[in-house]
Formats: sequence, C-alpha cells, structure tokens
Amino acid sequence: MTTSPDVRPASRPLTEPVGTVVPSQVPTHWYNLAADLPEPAPPALHPGTREPLGPDDLAPLFPMALIAQEVSTERYVEIPQTVRELYALWRPSPLIRALRLERALGTPAKIYYKYEGVSPAGSHKPNTAVAQAYYNAIEGTTKLTTETGAGQWGASLSFACSLLGLECEVWQVRASYDAKPYRRMQMETYGGVCHPSPSDLTEAGRAMLAADPETTGSLGMAISEAVEVAAQDPNAHYALGSVLNHVLLHQSVIGQEALAQLDEVGASADVVFGCAGGGSNLAGLSFPFIGRNLRDGTTTRVVACEPAACPSLTQGEYRYDFGDVAGLTPLLKMHTLGKDFVPPPIHAGGLRYHGMAPMVSHALELGLLEAIAVDQETAFAAGIEFARAEGIIPAPESTHAVAGAIAHARAATTEETIVIGLSGNGVLDLPAYHDFL
Ligand SMILES: *Cc1c(COP(=O)(O)O)cnc(C)c1O
Repeated sequence: MTTSPDVRPASRPLTEPVGTVVPSQVPTHWYNLAADLPEPAPPALHPGTREPLGPDDLAPLFPMALIAQEVSTERYVEIPQTVRELYALWRPSPLIRALRLERALGTPAKIYYKYEGVSPAGSHKPNTAVAQAYYNAIEGTTKLTTETGAGQWGASLSFACSLLGLECEVWQVRASYDAKPYRRMQMETYGGVCHPSPSDLTEAGRAMLAADPETTGSLGMAISEAVEVAAQDPNAHYALGSVLNHVLLHQSVIGQEALAQLDEVGASADVVFGCAGGGSNLAGLSFPFIGRNLRDGTTTRVVACEPAACPSLTQGEYRYDFGDVAGLTPLLKMHTLGKDFVPPPIHAGGLRYHGMAPMVSHALELGLLEAIAVDQETAFAAGIEFARAEGIIPAPESTHAVAGAIAHARAATTEETIVIGLSGNGVLDLPAYHDFL
C-alpha cells in the first residue's frame, strides 16, 4: 500500500484549536467501575475449594493494599502522592486530534487518540507498574517476579522497580525472548533479570519443557513460573500486568484524563476503540466513559479490538478458568480460549493471552461494551496508515484499535467523535513492521 503525500490545501486549517490537549494536572483518584455496575462481577474463586477468595489466599503473592483494591467497590480511590509524582514523569499523557488522518480517510468524523507511548517504557503499562511497586515497597517487599509476553510489561515493571528500589525477575515467553531482544535489553538497563519461559529454574517450567521441549511458550506458562518463585520466597511478591481488578483500577488514569481533556475542548466521545489483550488499557481508557454512561445516561460506545488469532472476547467461552497453565492462580470468571490455548506467535505479543479481564468480560456480558476481532494484516495496514498521517508508529497491539477506528471512520457519515486508545509506540517493534512491508 502506498499513499502519496497529501499536498492539498487543508479544508480545515491544521492549526484548528484542538491539536494536543494537555490538562494541567495528573488525576488525584483512580476510578473503579465496580461502584457503578448494575450487578457485581462474579468473584475470583480459590483453585482448591472453589469458594470465593479471601485476603489470606492472596497474601503470599500481593501486598494488602492491592488485595483491598482487588475487591473494592469504592468509586474513587486516592492515588498516593508518591505515585502521582512518579506519574508526573510522563503524565498527563496527550490527547491528540488526528486531523491529518481524518483528511487521509476523507471522513467527517473527528478522531482523537490518547497516546500512552509517551511513558518511559513506551506503553500504558507503567501506570500500574509504578503503583504496584509502590505498594509493595511500603509493605516491605524487596523483590517482584512477573511474566512478560512481548516484553512491555517486563520492561515497565523493571522501570518501576528501579524507581522504588526493588529487585525485578521476569519470565519472558520464549517466542518473544528470541524475537524481541531489545525488550530484554531495556529490562536489563533498568536492572531487571530476564529468563526465557519455560525455563528450567522452576518446577512448573521443567514440567512444561518435559512435555514439549520445543514449546514457544505462552503467558500462561510464564505466569506459572513467576508465581511459583514469588510464593516460595518470603521477601518476594508477584506482579501481574493486566487482567486483575487492581490493574484496571490503576489504568483508569487514562480515561479520567481523556474525559477531562475532551471536556476542555467541549467534545464528547461517541465511540471509543481500544485494543484488548488482557483488557487493561481498554478498561483504563473506557471504564470512566462507561461509568459516566451508567451514572449520567451518556451513550458513549466502547469497542474492544482483539486479534483474530487470539479471540477470547469474540470466540471464547464465558466461564471460570485459570489464569495460568499449571493452575496455580485463582479461578477467574472470564472469556477464555482455555488455559492450555497456545496462540500462534503473532507480532502483537501483548495480545497473546488466553483469557480476558473478569471486569471486561462482565461488561461485555452486560452489554456495556462490544468486541470485534481484527486480523494481523488489517491491523498493520492501519498502523502504517496512521504512522504516515500522524507520525507516531503505533505498537503492534495498538494497531488493532487503530484498525477498528479507521474502519468505523471510513463508514461514518456524520461529525461523530471517535477516540482511539493508542496504548504504546512501536519503535522497538520495527522488525514486525519490516516483516509486514
Ligand atoms: C501489553 C500491551 C497491550 C495489551 O494489554 P492490555 O492489558 O490488554 O492492555 C496493549 N498494548 C500495548 C502497547 C501493550 O504493551
């Protein structure tokens, strides 16, 4: 696909009042959708007893503050001052009007994108990484373990741990460990230690290697390894980069800011597109909009865009399932392709997860959001179209949201307002673009 440079005179001047909107401050509170849901999401269950989990069940893995947030139904949770100061390293993130993309598409719609690629790690993930590292640090944890797919979460947690003086040990899905060495280098630069998963360092990993020595790994396998190590070390905790309620809560800074930014320019979102792997950036951007729909009767639509190769929301079953392969995690009620599902090694590594956040799954069941599946070719074509119009190269994950928005904008016949969650930049994923081209 080639597009010639657009040299037509702008029908609307490119300096139209709304270029980049940056509100004056970082939000003071996170927003919790649980407070506004018409019915509560089904609880997480203990893997052995199948009874709802209690705080003691999670204590070996998480600090008490996060366990409390996991089950909180408070609408607004105050962001600790230290976390706000860390957020201020890159937040508020810009909301940008995509005027050149609008013109390239010839759409009457107004397209905005909320850009999370300005964080030091290059994605939305530090929004929860710094919060999780903070709560662990103040409760005396000295080390965090985690899994990572494409490496953005491992890099984000390594970054957060370096800021808060914690050690960080990461198990990275083998396929990405081999294909994306720059993320590992990023983790190591921040002081993190990164192993390919499955590894021979854990019982779970050794069992998976015995079953299939050639396995390319999966997030579910890597979670088993990281959980096992944290559970056995009294000074270590585990950190999850998506799916859980407290992660979605922290990510709500994205949507809180976007609402304020749109208000500032007198706009309101008709439809929001976000990419969905475990569901955290989608929820972070969209839950504040959904909450306002529920409280005030606004009608913003939310569309989750997932990869056709790993379609948990559009093809998965809604049932209790484990978050990992070994079955060490709590049972979560979610849209799932089954814990043993090994997705093909698509470029959007951050979207290769068999399940979906229980809160996002529940919202889909309640009709509060919609879901579509986007194939990889369409996603990259959209990413390139976006890059050539706006300059920013979207992360392969984010291109799914861009593709959903572009298809919608092309079909638009009115001046509706579209908001894209641009969850990260693709600068470290250029080989994936190269393969596509
Ligand atoms: C990890 C990641 C995703 C997917 O995770 P969610 O929890 O679904 O947000 C999406 N985009 C980027 C840039 C990522 O790093």
